[in-house]
Amino acid sequence: MFVDKVRITVCGGRGGDGAVAFHREKYVASGGPDGGDGGHGGSVVLHVNDNLTTLLDFRYKRKYAAQAGVNGMGRKMAGKRGENLIIDVPRGTVVRDAETGAIIVDMSTGEDFILAKGGRGGWGNAHYATATRQVPRFAKAGLKGQERDVILELKLLADVGLVGFPNVGKSTLLSVTSNARPKIANYHFTTLFPNLGVIYVDEGVSFVMADIPGIIEGAAEGAGLGHDFLRHIDRCRLLVHVVDVSGSEGRDPVEDFDAICAELENYSIDLSNRPMIVAANKTDIMDPDSDNLERLRARVEEAGCELYEISAGTTVGTRNLMRVVAEKLKTLPPVTIYEPEYVEVIEAPSDPDALEIEHLGSTWVITGTWLERLVMNINFDDYESRNYFDLQLRKCGLFARLEEMGIQDGDTVDIYDIEFEYQR
Ligand code: GDP
Ligand code: MG
Repeated sequence: MFVDKVRITVCGGRGGDGAVAFHREKYVASGGPDGGDGGHGGSVVLHVNDNLTTLLDFRYKRKYAAQAGVNGMGRKMAGKRGENLIIDVPRGTVVRDAETGAIIVDMSTGEDFILAKGGRGGWGNAHYATATRQVPRFAKAGLKGQERDVILELKLLADVGLVGFPNVGKSTLLSVTSNARPKIANYHFTTLFPNLGVIYVDEGVSFVMADIPGIIEGAAEGAGLGHDFLRHIDRCRLLVHVVDVSGSEGRDPVEDFDAICAELENYSIDLSNRPMIVAANKTDIMDPDSDNLERLRARVEEAGCELYEISAGTTVGTRNLMRVVAEKLKTLPPVTIYEPEYVEVIEAPSDPDALEIEHLGSTWVITGTWLERLVMNINFDDYESRNYFDLQLRKCGLFARLEEMGIQDGDTVDIYDIEFEYQR
């Protein structure tokens, strides 16, 4: 079974709670606060694994949650950080937001991607001790991890896509020209999932070719297997259209050629405009009296493509075809990598009461659901993100409210364990 599109839920681990604890020692009546911080929750991280060529593993497991952070403990012991959950995906997996369909990331470059961040651990009370507040009896709860529904879609990364009717010899061509060993058999649909092969033409000259299951008529409308597979050649730079010119299956090569072209066009104009080279295959068993080859050549030239005669079975002409393909690739743009389209907008609420303000001596503790989400999405190591954070706080009228309530310069503002000194 080949699976190339799945919907999954990913969830970052919850942050551990901070501890409220006080130092106890023999002969020491009451020590200072020593409650440790909760550990951060683990994140769900996507990782490219080049041994994978399908999303099959996701078919039976739909929910992926990273480990929670451990709660803080006394003696200033911080809770352990939750482990990240690493999810292996095949190269070329495109991740979309399940609701909007916007692309979140294209797992093509090989870089890991944090898909769901773990929640921050809460601070223990040891963190809150100040000169004026020596016995803080509060600590913070950990924050929830990020949860999101996403769609994983496999769009293989190959320079060349083989297209053509079932049984025309696509898998054979791939196997005789590359390191790939696809299944070859004399019946339709032996290829149930795409095979990738690397073709070495010359020193330093190589490309990747993909063999996808045969397209059949009506595939673009979802009639056969083909439809699902067409997306794998979406990003190919060049198509090699294999046509059986032997008539061994009683089919007409010109009709075959036109039918596949029509399927491509139905699927996407973009794909039908992709550069194409035609490989007239099975020339070894061609009836010498047949005009199949000449009729096909005329039709192909009319369509503006080049035709090469091969016999994949006996490897006649295959080497030459691969050279032609490599030359052609030199003139074509690189494989498309999709740009992310997804931007999380966390707009400040128009209602200033959406934020709760707690006043504890010289500390002002601010909470609110919106704020929690905002904090979760800000990278505090990054200057721009911090600026954005500041802007959002200003926009929602927080500072104005604090002023009204009598905040003083030098007071501490605490927003989900982000603490800063207030300055007008
Ligand atoms: P695919 O469905 O397009 O991948 O076709 P396959 O590569 O599985 O080949 C289908 C059948 O055609 C197999 O029995 C192959 O051995 C045979 N075949 C492929 N290429 C040639 C060829 O050039 N000459 C001959 N005589 N048979 C071939
Ligand atoms: Mg095949």
